[in-house]
Amino acid sequence: MLHLATGDMLREAVAAGSPLGREARGYMDQGALVPDDVIIRMMGERLGKPDAARGFILDGFPRTIAQADALATLLKERGQTLDTVVYFDVSAPELLRRLTGRRVCRKCGHTYHLVSNPPKRAGVCDACGGELYQRDDDTEATVRKRLEVYQRQTAPLLDYYRQRNLLTTVSGEGALTAIGDAIRAAVGAPAR
Ligand SMILES: [Zn+2]
Repeated sequence: MLHLATGDMLREAVAAGSPLGREARGYMDQGALVPDDVIIRMMGERLGKPDAARGFILDGFPRTIAQADALATLLKERGQTLDTVVYFDVSAPELLRRLTGRRVCRKCGHTYHLVSNPPKRAGVCDACGGELYQRDDDTEATVRKRLEVYQRQTAPLLDYYRQRNLLTTVSGEGALTAIGDAIRAAVGAPAR
């Protein structure tokens, strides 16, 4: 299944120095949401590509009510429907711990976590020997800001999708296998 993560798409655009990337960069570095019109334009283009015709998993989109409304319109235009919305329920302290511990390889993009998935040698990528760094938007101050933004702009989506009978809540804490099973059940995939 095609996996479309807005965060990855934006970071690729930033790395490529495209007009979209230049526009998005300032917001991302501050922990702010990239404006709706920019995200909606990007997703509209992406969902219009042939590989998206047979379905996709959206990751990090929509993040606001305006984006959810735009997604509904995009899907309608394309004759597609939203099957389900999976909400990963994780407490704020746990999110803070996870996000501030994240380290990314500068060369190959592989992700590590200082606590749950540390590299064999501190600061060095196991896969390629590249240097590990902390993304600007993963510092503690920025993560706190992101959590505030989430409460204000993204949390209202829970009611939005609950009212449309599309919301499935999955606990995002605990064993990875249990989380995986809960996701499979939520999307109607066969159990392992
Ligand atoms: Zn690497």
